[in-house]
Amino acid sequence: MTKSVSLEMRGSIAIVWIDNPPVNALSHHVRSGIVDTLREAAAANASAAVLAGRGGTFIAGADIREFGKPPIEPMLGEVCDTIEATEFPVIAVVEGNTLGGGLETALGCHYRVAHSKAKVGFPEVNLGLLPGAAGTQRGPRAINDVATAVQFIASGKPVTGKQALAMGLVDQLDDNPLDAAIAMAAEVGTEANRGAGLDERRLSKVQLQWNADTESAFDSALKQVAAQARGANAPLRAAECVMDAYKIPFAEGVKKERDTFMELVKSDQSNALRHIFFAERAAAKAPADISGTPREIKKVGVIGAGTMGGGISMTYIEAGYPVVLLEMSDEALDRGLATIEKNWMRGVKSGRTTEAQVKERMNLYTRTTSYDDLADCDLIIEAVFETMQVKRDVFGKLDKIAKPTAILASNTSYLNVDDIAAVTSRPENVLGMHYFSPANIMKLLEIVHAEKTADDVLLTILDIAKKTRKQAAISGVGHGFIGNRMLTPYIRQANLLVLEGASPEQVDKALTDFGWAMGVFAVSDLAGLDIGYKSRADQDLSEAEAQIYTAADRLVEAGHLGQKSGSGFYTYDPETRARKPNPEALRILDEVRAERGINTREISDEEIIERTQYALANEGALVLGEGVARSAGDIDVVYNYGYGYPRWRGGPMKYAETIGLKKVAEKIKEFKDGPSGVHWHPSEYLIKVASSNKGFAAHEKD
Ligand code: NAD
Repeated sequence: MTKSVSLEMRGSIAIVWIDNPPVNALSHHVRSGIVDTLREAAAANASAAVLAGRGGTFIAGADIREFGKPPIEPMLGEVCDTIEATEFPVIAVVEGNTLGGGLETALGCHYRVAHSKAKVGFPEVNLGLLPGAAGTQRGPRAINDVATAVQFIASGKPVTGKQALAMGLVDQLDDNPLDAAIAMAAEVGTEANRGAGLDERRLSKVQLQWNADTESAFDSALKQVAAQARGANAPLRAAECVMDAYKIPFAEGVKKERDTFMELVKSDQSNALRHIFFAERAAAKAPADISGTPREIKKVGVIGAGTMGGGISMTYIEAGYPVVLLEMSDEALDRGLATIEKNWMRGVKSGRTTEAQVKERMNLYTRTTSYDDLADCDLIIEAVFETMQVKRDVFGKLDKIAKPTAILASNTSYLNVDDIAAVTSRPENVLGMHYFSPANIMKLLEIVHAEKTADDVLLTILDIAKKTRKQAAISGVGHGFIGNRMLTPYIRQANLLVLEGASPEQVDKALTDFGWAMGVFAVSDLAGLDIGYKSRADQDLSEAEAQIYTAADRLVEAGHLGQKSGSGFYTYDPETRARKPNPEALRILDEVRAERGINTREISDEEIIERTQYALANEGALVLGEGVARSAGDIDVVYNYGYGYPRWRGGPMKYAETIGLKKVAEKIKEFKDGPSGVHWHPSEYLIKVASSNKGFAAHEKD
């Protein structure tokens, strides 16, 4: 086997090459290779060394194949210490991905030369961990100030090489960082710069000062981190370690970092975050039983320039695809395109885009009211009104004009995609592409695999999801697919809890304390209470079901439509949008409770969480049992990316596993036997998985 780390001597300068394709991960042989090769360089009387990765990447991070396996020495911490203790200067060539352990390795070096576009960061907190090889101790010693160090290490967000220079993380930028590092090696590889002479460049020797200024900067940075973390633990623990770097000696700080790391590795949060990390990759992959080659998509058609069609078209334009946008009238086109332009222009104000870029994007649109103009589109996405007849009319027209290989997609929220496909002569080219609002921002794309959808059509859409930077998850056909279907019992429980005595505000607060981005009632106000009202009117709800929403219906009938009318379950300050409970909503609720003779009671937050979250998990299990979702992981991905579910809880299915499926199943049975039992439909599949004492994944492999 060729060595993954090798030595090249250029005069007295040693180049220590790391060559572990594809990303130079820190596998065991790389770790030991760095230590051995530096020793070889010393034996060859090197005056300085350059540590560089082959293939344009320094070191992208840990080797995920070693995750969960017993660690083998040398551990990365030791490797970094060895580099730092080397007698002669070692210069890291920071390019490509220099993340996690890769950055820790670079911080063990005495100098860092970076490419301006290198991606430099500590993503560990995204997995509920923190840098565990002294990154939290050397990092702050390199970074200019405490607030930047906290934000950098606790946010997990990478920076560019250019930003890293400004932060103090690297010493020099160069478009050819290898040559620049070799030139630097020639300069710094002097007698004065050996042994103790190098101490100034050894980050572990840097003494940081903790004083009133650093303390107040730290406190405000910590507040920001806590707000962003929304219940996630690792960012706060990482920030604590940054404080240690300032306050306690290096060796003690390293030990505390290690202990914190070991604690976090075993935590539910890290377990859940690792679950979702793997689940999102699995969700974007094609099912094992399908094969084919993706079709080429060069031009996209979008029908409807409303909320969704506008956002969907923006997604494609931003990814560089020309879009033909079709509407019913020129006025509707004018309106839709004006909104699109306004949205992009907001980015100009904030500096994300330039006016020229917006012009260029607007030029990628072809506007039309004629279906004939869609004839050369490779993918046509319909986002018209949510009515079966309207959708079927559109697909009937498309069938007449679209080219034979064109993929025809519906952005329907609930409707049966098989029934839509059936009006065409080519149902194999039809599927659902369920985007979320605002579609240019929200990452989720629920792909609805209809009964007759061809394999290569599904592969094409999985491919286009990647190209347009969306997170795909595949669903089968069924009312509301995965996400919206599960929402119904969740919202139902929230409304029942309110009838029984909780206030909308209490329910929402319990949900946001749990980690949800927003509570049920705040979301309803945002979407518009009239949406639910219309959708209930369109459905044939049982009397018992319809009665749950009487208060919401009366609010709509009294003109409280949510944010757009200034009031719904809450009232909204016209200037600040700050919300307060709407007294009228509370009055209507009392009225409904009195009419029904409901004796309201104190409802605990615990009950709110159990009923709403177990309702979600139960419906998820029904979806799994019916085969609408491929895996519990896919469901969790849908909820993370489409509905604001707290990522650090994994997802509704992972959360149920964390609580214990047996306990969840027993509680659901209790609810079924309780006063609102008529609204519970316990999943047999959940009971089966719970009684097996294994998680969902074990059953999916069966
Ligand atoms: P919208 O009312 O904002 O936009 C619909 C647009 O379609 C209108 O501009 C209308 O003029 C146009 N239209 C209607 N019939 C047409 C036809 N025959 N030909 C051409 N244009 C036509 O509605 P929306 O919120 O964008 O929803 C569109 C679809 O997306 C619906 O199926 C909806 O269920 C789904 N959806 C909506 C959301 C959401 O949050 N709004 C989320 C996911 C999916």
